[in-house]
Amino acid sequence: MNILLVGAGLSGAVIGRRLAEAGHDITIVDGRDHIGGNCHTERDAETDVMVHVYGPHIFHTDDEEVWTYVNEFTTFMPYKNRVKTTSQGQVFSLPINLHTINQYYGKTMRPDEAREFIASIGDSSIEEPETFEEQALKFVGPDLYEAFFKGYTEKQWGCSPTELPASILKRLPVRFNYDDNYFFHKFQGMPENGYTPMIEAILKHDKITVKLNTWYTPEMGEGFDHVFWSGPLDGFFDYKLGRLGYRTLDFEKFTERGDYQGCAVMNYGDRDVPFTRITEHKHFSPWEEHEGTVCYREFSRSCTPDDIPYYPIRMVDEKAMLADYVALAEESEGVTFVGRLGTYRYLDMDVTIREAMDTATMFLEHQEKGSKMPAFAVSPQ
Ligand SMILES: Cc1cc2nc3c(=O)[nH]c(=O)nc-3n(C[C@H](O)[C@H](O)[C@H](O)COP(=O)(O)OP(=O)(O)OC[C@H]3O[C@@H](n4cnc5c(N)ncnc54)[C@H](O)[C@@H]3O)c2cc1C
Repeated sequence: MNILLVGAGLSGAVIGRRLAEAGHDITIVDGRDHIGGNCHTERDAETDVMVHVYGPHIFHTDDEEVWTYVNEFTTFMPYKNRVKTTSQGQVFSLPINLHTINQYYGKTMRPDEAREFIASIGDSSIEEPETFEEQALKFVGPDLYEAFFKGYTEKQWGCSPTELPASILKRLPVRFNYDDNYFFHKFQGMPENGYTPMIEAILKHDKITVKLNTWYTPEMGEGFDHVFWSGPLDGFFDYKLGRLGYRTLDFEKFTERGDYQGCAVMNYGDRDVPFTRITEHKHFSPWEEHEGTVCYREFSRSCTPDDIPYYPIRMVDEKAMLADYVALAEESEGVTFVGRLGTYRYLDMDVTIREAMDTATMFLEHQEKGSKMPAFAVSPQ
């Protein structure tokens, strides 16, 4: 079959590769001038530092098949994400752990003492938390909530944590030991030469043609047997029911000599600091040495039609509009919506890859049976 994939990010690359290996002819278009989608990395011309152009990306997964898959296309270097935060005039370790608690309260508690202490300051009058704020107050009480969640969340989401659902803060955000590894996953790492060469290797197949600087137009789909769409779901329908809400990010890039902040990610919890965090990109490649350094100050705001959509908002209004777009999509013929934009969900890279693999498998099964490939391999709702 002749298959068109819109978007040369991870979704497009992984689906394209699987289908090419099964013998199909694959064309991938992307409106940008590079492959890799939001995972794109490139070396900074001035300092030679590897820069994560659309914000930092750390690979972490428990999915062994996905881990084996990515390691086939590049070498992964060991990397642990250790995040710090500047709040109320001090630097603390995140996620909140025994060090953070002892430092914040000027104590020397052992794990069980800290557990008891945190339980005593949590708001026990809140039984079934409905909002983000209630969830945080129940788990950690007002001091740690103010220092580590309130201001940061207001900046990130542009609204009060009283307006956000409790589900955003799912698990107890506290560790009663000194483990400051941000992720729990079994496999964690960073591709030695960045993500773009890894995705380039995935796309390197005789049956795959990639066309950059090429935005999709409806006529483009005509010569193809099936289209996989990893662009915005509402964009496919020319936004005719309105625009699904996103947050976007502005990155204020600056370069310095030496080591600017001593770590890769420094959050800023105070409300009066306008940015959410500073990322220093050479610390994402700790095995490299550079005299210069590249940092991004990261600002979050509401996404306009001219911006890059980053985080889907998925509040009540957006979910209602999403349901209408899903109904439209399900009426469409010959197109499957995939990836973070096509299904309007935040997806980590490992989940994106897992879903892309499963989508390709599902397509091949439908093709064998002669049945119709659905509009969504994974429900966006
Ligand atoms: C700020 C941020 C930080 C993140 N950090 C991490 C992290 O640390 N670890 C992690 O695992 N995941 C992280 N992620 C998630 C990761 O970025 C996604 O999993 C991944 O980018 C999803 O790939 P995709 O192919 O679905 O989408 P994308 O990467 O967005 O690719 C879609 C592509 O489609 C193209 N396109 C869109 N519309 C059209 C059109 N009309 N015509 C032609 N081309 C089009 C776009 O140009 C883009 O290249 C982060 C995401 C964000 C927003």
